[in-house]
Amino acid sequence: MTMIRSSILVACAALALAGCNIGPQVSDPATSGVTDAMLDAPPPEEWLTYGRDYGEQRFSPLDQITAENVSDLGLAWSADLDTARGQEATPLMHDGVLYISTAWSMVKAYDARTGELKWSYDPEVPRETLAVACCDAVNRGVALYGDKVYVATLNGDLVALNQSDGTVAWRTTVVPDTTSYTITGAPRVANGKILIGSGGAEYKARGFIAAYDWQTGEEVWRFHTVPGNPADGFENEAMELAAATWGGNWWELGGGGTVWDAITFDPETNLVLFGTGNAEPWNPRANGRNTVEGQEGAGDNLYTSSIVAVDADSGEYRWHFQETPEDRWDYDSNAQITVASMTIEGAERRVAIHVPKNGYVYVLDVATGEFLSGTPWTPQNWTLGIDPETGRPQINPAARYEQSDALWVSVPGAAGAHSWQPMSYSPQTGLVYIPANNGGFPFVANNDFEASDIGFQTGLNSAATAMPADLAVRQAAKDATTGALVAWNVAEGREAWRANYTGPWNGGTLATAGNLLFQGTADERFIAYAADSGRQLWSFATQSGVIAAPMTYSLDGTQYVAIMVGWGGVWDIAPGALADISGTPRNISRLLVFKLGADGTLAAPPALAQRALDPPPVTGTPAQIAAGALIYGRYCSVCHGDAAISGALNPDLRHSGALNQAASMKAIVLDGAFAHRGMVSFATALDEAGVENVRHYIISRANEDKALEGR
Ligand code: CA
Repeated sequence: MTMIRSSILVACAALALAGCNIGPQVSDPATSGVTDAMLDAPPPEEWLTYGRDYGEQRFSPLDQITAENVSDLGLAWSADLDTARGQEATPLMHDGVLYISTAWSMVKAYDARTGELKWSYDPEVPRETLAVACCDAVNRGVALYGDKVYVATLNGDLVALNQSDGTVAWRTTVVPDTTSYTITGAPRVANGKILIGSGGAEYKARGFIAAYDWQTGEEVWRFHTVPGNPADGFENEAMELAAATWGGNWWELGGGGTVWDAITFDPETNLVLFGTGNAEPWNPRANGRNTVEGQEGAGDNLYTSSIVAVDADSGEYRWHFQETPEDRWDYDSNAQITVASMTIEGAERRVAIHVPKNGYVYVLDVATGEFLSGTPWTPQNWTLGIDPETGRPQINPAARYEQSDALWVSVPGAAGAHSWQPMSYSPQTGLVYIPANNGGFPFVANNDFEASDIGFQTGLNSAATAMPADLAVRQAAKDATTGALVAWNVAEGREAWRANYTGPWNGGTLATAGNLLFQGTADERFIAYAADSGRQLWSFATQSGVIAAPMTYSLDGTQYVAIMVGWGGVWDIAPGALADISGTPRNISRLLVFKLGADGTLAAPPALAQRALDPPPVTGTPAQIAAGALIYGRYCSVCHGDAAISGALNPDLRHSGALNQAASMKAIVLDGAFAHRGMVSFATALDEAGVENVRHYIISRANEDKALEGR
């Protein structure tokens, strides 16, 4: 504690000498409740932060539940949640209380023994916010510090609640505007500061990470990940250096590089490491962002798709490593950053292990960012290799789809070989356990792209790549899109074992000292494997797909395992016509808690509704339908699914009653009749003729699929 306080004083003194504004007074660290010392050496019985420890290893030393007895694991208690959207949070447990966040950024506190609800908090996120959220109304969890619990809301606020009763201690606005920025990530804690970034790199967000005083909610520092308009001056040297890697008027679309998930505090170096998202827009020619000094492809677009390290107390730049220069494939580097000590080529190293979307496993030195290794762990086609000294990829020229102006099917796809679903690292086995997505994503550039004021701004022609009404093509796409749990030996750079799944987008993982590896799946199972061998030892029918990661805790000598279930969190264009490939993703959102010897059961789920298509006849002209397809692909498919086939969360428009009347469609799309449910008005981008074209397109699609029914 003394050390931390004095380091703040030294930092302030240095800044004062340099004539700098030292910013808001920083509150003293917590001396009761959850303290820095507890976060630094987490008690085995508790789970105090998103990744369990500062290094985000998600390895629990608890060993009451083992590979030998896990077959006796049963449901101790469960809680039904008051939302049916994606549940991504990892519960935290402190002092006998289990804290969760749910979709719509709500927070609930339960008695961790009995499941009795102690309190709940609803930040009352406007449902219209859904229209600027790429991927559902999800929230990945809360942070604990002192006597408070922290949640960041979808509409961009950071809220401090009192642990005792859930009342609001303070609430502050983090995002600069709510038309391009949302927050889904879990806050982290560093030296009494609460850290959070945002999403929005498919809209017009300029990425950042910010630190807030835990007591007052005052902003202590903010570090942008991409430079702003040079005419406004640069905030720091890092921004000036980055600006040389950008072309066109990049700032007009924000630039992206959002810090929407990975934030790792390393107390040993006092660094905050974080991952950044894709550059915006996806198609770099759409705004010339990587044309530098007349040379297309010359702009790396720093610091997008990178790991960046800043000083935890000042937010000053320390180092960066860009994993995907000139990204155009949505290869966010936002997956969690895990810090571990391991022996590499005979030397003991403290390393950051990172498995971003782009198909490589990276190992970097924590203190300096030195590249130690980069190994492809899944099939990939965007590079021809990677420089073994620097880690810089040699980009496959054919992958620059905006230059070829041809279809490019990227592997990995835009969902990533590994996205935010947390991996875990077991020091016992030396393995990381990665939730893997196998498949590709079709890119066709819209090089005539013009930005608009609503919706995704990717610069793609999504109509050109919509799934056709051809059962053989759809089946082939399904067969090529699978999931897996991959156990990877980091030090040796090789796969140890894998478990294959029918579909992608499965849950995060938990490793324990009982030689166990837990994971939930999209096909409605919660599974325990032997961590060393991959042998499946136990499973439980969850009645709903799982995307969240499990955690474990112990009370009164009894070990529990908890997981949130409820499938979603997905950008519907990705599954689209493939919505059912992961099984039948349905959403019955719950918190499930297990212990040895328990035999609880869940109420039987309702039968899945099977609705036959009954659309009005096709009356639109081919030109209207084609024009509607372009609009649908750009504005509608993100939520309502590729080729007008919805996933589990949002209405499937092929069944919509509004298809029968132009006036109904107009009332919804232009007048915002369903804004209270998240379907906002698109009047800034579309006119009546455009909406009518979309109606004709959806009617056409529904009739095509009706003709396929029963075949
Ligand atoms: Ca992205």
